[in-house]
Amino acid sequence: MQDEEHVLLDCPSADLANLRVKRHQLFRSPLGGAPLANKDSFKYLGLFYYRTHNIAKSAEHMLGPFMAGCHRIRQFAREHHLNDRPHALLWLAKCYAIPASIHACQILGRRFMKQGSEFDSPLQTAHPCFLKGVLGAKRSVPNWAVLRECGQEHLQFYWFCAAAKFFSSACGISGLLKKIVHADIALGATYRKCRTAEFIEACVGLRAADTYANCIKAATPLPGRGPLQDFVADLRERLRAAWRELDGADPRTHAQQLATYHAWMALPLKSSNVWGPPHVLHRYLELELSRHVLRNIARFHLRAHTLRVETSCWQSHNRICDKCDLHDVQDEKHLVFFVPLLGNVPFKKEIRKTIC
Ligand SMILES: [Zn+2]
Repeated sequence: MQDEEHVLLDCPSADLANLRVKRHQLFRSPLGGAPLANKDSFKYLGLFYYRTHNIAKSAEHMLGPFMAGCHRIRQFAREHHLNDRPHALLWLAKCYAIPASIHACQILGRRFMKQGSEFDSPLQTAHPCFLKGVLGAKRSVPNWAVLRECGQEHLQFYWFCAAAKFFSSACGISGLLKKIVHADIALGATYRKCRTAEFIEACVGLRAADTYANCIKAATPLPGRGPLQDFVADLRERLRAAWRELDGADPRTHAQQLATYHAWMALPLKSSNVWGPPHVLHRYLELELSRHVLRNIARFHLRAHTLRVETSCWQSHNRICDKCDLHDVQDEKHLVFFVPLLGNVPFKKEIRKTIC
């Protein structure tokens, strides 16, 4: 191989392209009598390739289409006066923005499917950021709480399901694709970054992880009733781990905001099944309320207010309420259950301003 190494990709269903590996002139050669197009980038099978980008980071390059989808949703909301109708924006996000993030990730986003890697990808954090914009909450609100408040599932769920479906479909196809799957399975025994090895690693934490690993190694479709029904329920159960570890936690002694949200604000989770997310959308998000009221309720739920329990995290004062003599922590519980008993109308008005 000469120093001037080039990669020639044959993409019969897409634009033909030369990708330059080093700083040299592009290699030009005809293919089938037609000259190759001289391009710096191209899209093939839903994947975006660029000459200066690492192909392994294609999942991150899908941030562009995802953000474009979010921009289009905001534009649509402005044009149709839907800014104070969060349920419409959340529905549009499911139908328009999330699909834009899926295709590439099912091919090359496997390292983001592992348990504990739920927010490692910029796309996985961009999704809750969009939801925070819908709710009017600040960026520091925990991503898990925002997803649950909005009744939306994690992008990892969509990506992992898409990858599992792709694998099961590939196992049932004969020909070149089947040979590629078998070659990748053989490669997985010694190379941790191939599709098979990463998929098996991503299955860790699922109840039937060993069964899925054995199916993948044997190149057979994943087991279960119907098309991946057991896998979908299993994956939803794994994603609930963030909440299971907070069961029984006392919000007043636990350091995490998530504990407060889980114990006091969130609606109970449904059982994990194939039919839908375990989250239940809060009723207030479906009501015809003003954007101001919606934002205040969301901020109160997500601890994005300025009660002393929150401001003490970055200001030099303690969490004890300075508006009454109860010497109690000034948090949501204090506001809802103790303040009404005081009969202190000016204080009520003042403290109400802290969440508005
Ligand atoms: Zn007080």
